[in-house]
Amino acid sequence: MKQALVFICSACGADHAKWAGRCRVCGSWNTLEETKIVKTRTAVRKTANPQTLVSVNSSSHPRLVTGLDEVDLLFGGGLVQGSVYLLTGEPGTGKSTMLLELSRNLPGKILYIAGEETEFQIKERFDRLGIKNDRLFITRETCAESLIELVNRENFNILFIDSIQMLSSSAFENTPGSVVQVRTCACLLINVCKEKNITCIFTGHITKDGTTAGPKIIEHAVDGTVYMYPEAIDS
Ligand SMILES: [Zn+2]
Repeated sequence: MKQALVFICSACGADHAKWAGRCRVCGSWNTLEETKIVKTRTAVRKTANPQTLVSVNSSSHPRLVTGLDEVDLLFGGGLVQGSVYLLTGEPGTGKSTMLLELSRNLPGKILYIAGEETEFQIKERFDRLGIKNDRLFITRETCAESLIELVNRENFNILFIDSIQMLSSSAFENTPGSVVQVRTCACLLINVCKEKNITCIFTGHITKDGTTAGPKIIEHAVDGTVYMYPEAIDS
């Protein structure tokens, strides 16, 4: 199989056909990563006919009330069904705790994709928070294609992906957390959520050194981003 090569900047995500010492888009030095594209063939789907804007049913995207006053206020009355959000901050700012808190009141079947911690660690926190939700499911699967198969098979209403940096697509050999993996996995998951009207929250760590692919790369692709700061947590 012929493999295409592309060079992707780990700072800004820009593609380059040839290697260079400096990214021509953001100007960073030594940030281009060689990336093999294994699967380049994509099937073209038949597009549904466009509809008139007046016929669009806006009530098909109801608000999902989280019961957390500040969160509901921030999102204008709750999360929008079928929307994808990014919950970001430095490690230790309480992103995983926030996901569990959100699970208290969100309706429907929720799938927690645990890439960062074991199910035992998450269960401990779940118990400590006193949450009793038997609609919350957990998996440690981090392959994007396997997750999509799972989401298509089981009817989940909400996905928590903790974190986007732990997912990997089998289309690339790059390690999880690299620009190409973060970007590809986010796109694959966003597509399936939009198709099936699933509400999704990605967590993503911000790194200070800037060498690891940050959540910045997917900010433009999600419907909303929430930053968590250490001082926002009571401890
Ligand atoms: Zn760049």
